[in-house]
Amino acid sequence: MKITAIEIKHYLLPLEPPFKAAWDPNPRKKFASTVVQVHTDEGITGIGSGDLMTGFEGHEHLIIGQDPFAIERHSQVIDNIDFHYGRCWPLDLALWDLMGKATGQPTYKLLGARSDKILAYASTGEMVTPEVRADRAQLLLEQGFKAMKIRFHHKDVRDDIKVVEAVRKSIGDKLEIMVDANQGWKMPWDTEPTWDLKKAYQVAKELEQLGVFWLEEPLQSHDFRGLAQLRQMATGIRIAGGEMNRRMHDFREMNFLGSLDVYQPDVALTGGITQVRKIADMVQSSGAWFSPHTWTNGIGVMANLHLAAAISHCPYLELPYDPPSWTPERRDFIQQNKLNIDSEGYLHLPQQSGLGVELDLEAVERYAYNKVYVGEST
Ligand SMILES: [Mg+2]
Repeated sequence: MKITAIEIKHYLLPLEPPFKAAWDPNPRKKFASTVVQVHTDEGITGIGSGDLMTGFEGHEHLIIGQDPFAIERHSQVIDNIDFHYGRCWPLDLALWDLMGKATGQPTYKLLGARSDKILAYASTGEMVTPEVRADRAQLLLEQGFKAMKIRFHHKDVRDDIKVVEAVRKSIGDKLEIMVDANQGWKMPWDTEPTWDLKKAYQVAKELEQLGVFWLEEPLQSHDFRGLAQLRQMATGIRIAGGEMNRRMHDFREMNFLGSLDVYQPDVALTGGITQVRKIADMVQSSGAWFSPHTWTNGIGVMANLHLAAAISHCPYLELPYDPPSWTPERRDFIQQNKLNIDSEGYLHLPQQSGLGVELDLEAVERYAYNKVYVGEST
């Protein structure tokens, strides 16, 4: 089998009302999705998505004509492009989809198939009042969720802690609560200061008292030593992070220093399935967890779902979900099969071959655009 063409298309969903992501000072009025399709001489097409493929143009010849199964070779090429230009890991996802389709197996079965389902945690995105967050937590509970994540980003962190207190009071021990401080990286226009170690420690101590399952990104994402120190100081709460660390060697250093309890590389943003699988093996063999970040679109969630179900020891996988502001209709707008949990809180692995992505042809027609992406707020 040979790769004959690579097609990259961009889609833009208008968001009305805008989505106010806690980690972005600017409300988002649109949501971009990029789809990569890898065609072959046997008529099988692999589909990937999750990042913008910036920097791939002009490098198609490095992949076209190749055997799609030479994934380690292709992964090296994409890693080289990542260094020089930008993140093109959706191509790796499309190749894993293609390998599944060519062998007639769902991708997670090619990766290890520890399980065919995994508990989702509802990863909320907005900052809302303690009362509203507590009401939304009740709804999550009714829908079957067993865990949820709350965003911090108020000017005064005590206002963030009040939200966790209200949720804990409302739902008791029926939901695990994760907290995302979003201190690891910033949008280009965000010039607010990042937490220091002592502030992160004070917050961790408070959250420990509230039985929080993990505290995510309490420090800058390359402060490997600070994170390791925090982890040793705040022993009663897990420290999570790594969603935007881009290279294998970052994770090697973090693992060596003991920076995190939960490692969150996202296959759509860092290393594809090929590299993240190796990172996951490394951190899990050191006793830490792998639970990928999944906040791209539904196809990105699905790709992470395949790898997590295949190898992860962590009980939960992130599902971006914060109705009414972030819904499956928005998140999965280019695909037919919207992702939802069952009544017990599980996401089930699709059983068709490959990743199981079915594009919504009507949406693909309606939301297509050809503009060059210049890093504006979407
Ligand atoms: Mg996060």
